[in-house]
Amino acid sequence: MPEPLAPDRLLELDRRHVWHPYGPMPGRQDPLVVESAAGVRLRLAEPAWGAEELIDGMSSWWSAIHGYNHPVLNAAAREQLGRMSHVMFGGLTHEPAVRLAARLVETTPAGLEHVFLADSGSVSVEVAVKMCLQYWRSVGRPRKRRLLTWRGGYHGDTWQPMSVCDPEGGMHGLWQGALPRQVFADAPPAGFAAEPDAGYADRLRALIARHADELAAVIVEPVVQGAGGMRFHSPAYVRVLREACDEHGVLLVLDEIATGFGRTGRLFAAEHAGVTPDVLCVGKALTGGYLTMAATLCTPRVAEGISRGEVPVLAHGPTFMANPLAAAVASASVELLLAQDWRSAVGRIEAGLRAGLAPAAELPGVRDVRVLGAIGVVQLDHEVDVAAATRAAAREGVWLRPFRDLLYTMPPYITDERDLARIGAAVCAAAQAA
Ligand SMILES: *Cc1c(COP(=O)(O)O)cnc(C)c1O
Repeated sequence: MPEPLAPDRLLELDRRHVWHPYGPMPGRQDPLVVESAAGVRLRLAEPAWGAEELIDGMSSWWSAIHGYNHPVLNAAAREQLGRMSHVMFGGLTHEPAVRLAARLVETTPAGLEHVFLADSGSVSVEVAVKMCLQYWRSVGRPRKRRLLTWRGGYHGDTWQPMSVCDPEGGMHGLWQGALPRQVFADAPPAGFAAEPDAGYADRLRALIARHADELAAVIVEPVVQGAGGMRFHSPAYVRVLREACDEHGVLLVLDEIATGFGRTGRLFAAEHAGVTPDVLCVGKALTGGYLTMAATLCTPRVAEGISRGEVPVLAHGPTFMANPLAAAVASASVELLLAQDWRSAVGRIEAGLRAGLAPAAELPGVRDVRVLGAIGVVQLDHEVDVAAATRAAAREGVWLRPFRDLLYTMPPYITDERDLARIGAAVCAAAQAA
């Protein structure tokens, strides 16, 4: 093992050489150095604002649902490491991939039968789009190659996903004109439990009808829009999309990369609507936050359509497709989730967040407080001062990573009452400081 880097040296090298998400180069704001992580806690190399460790209020961007350094996931990784970390997937197969694919077919909404194991969420969306466009080309409708989505969405950072991210509020507005031009509906009216707006539903149907000849698919995040604005909407609109897509011959892609594996209180958010999409993307929590892996599932109709085409194969095959190490950990993570009473765990977190975030509603500058499943959001009426909010949360012993006008948290499902209360206090403190 090399000598550990002194924290100052590490930060200097980091600033000079290492890109961070949505970051400038060289870096302007020093990140915190994490030395290790266990349970719900990140251990820092050096204390930050008095804290030596921080409760992770972010689950490392929705992924670490079981917390860090979990003995079951560690054992799965170690066991697989002893066999093989990776082999190519062309012409070869292995138990971790087959087991995982079969389990995903069992646990996702009925009707999805075929699984493409991709290496990140964005790539799984690329694959979903390719499946849909190729389906229509194969069945003799090559002009159907545009996508429709609603505003406020987020589907990843590679090129096709960027084209269906929110074109204004999102992080990819810079590329308008360079990206493929997709069809945008207004953002769905807010509120998970709000009475569905019939006028909005009619406009959605009309837009799909009007563009049906050129639409390959509608792609949305069901029920919760994540990085596009942390907004919740009625499952009724997902049903409207399913009906309109069926009526007008358009495929429906649901992106559950953030919402999958219990986060919204159902195993998949599509279950709130009772809808099976033609294509489903999962990722993030798939490996319990251990390794990068995502999956694109589709129905037999989509797969058979592609197979009947002039080019009867799906021409996609990442080098690290179906990585055995990631697949083994993913299977262990899904089994761990299903073997426990995850509904109660998520329900307990929902109750804790409702209680913990309620005081924020009284604070000046707070526009909205909302909770659904193990997701809590405090929306301000101004841009968050990220440095001030981060500092205020760390003083409460909690790691938060706000963006735009949003302070939000989606804790690991193992977070206990005391730590939940601290997360609530930290979000309120951050709201006050931001
Ligand atoms: C995070 C996310 C993606 C992109 O996944 P990556 O693994 O970051 O490429 C796509 N869609 C949604 C809904 C996401 O939350």
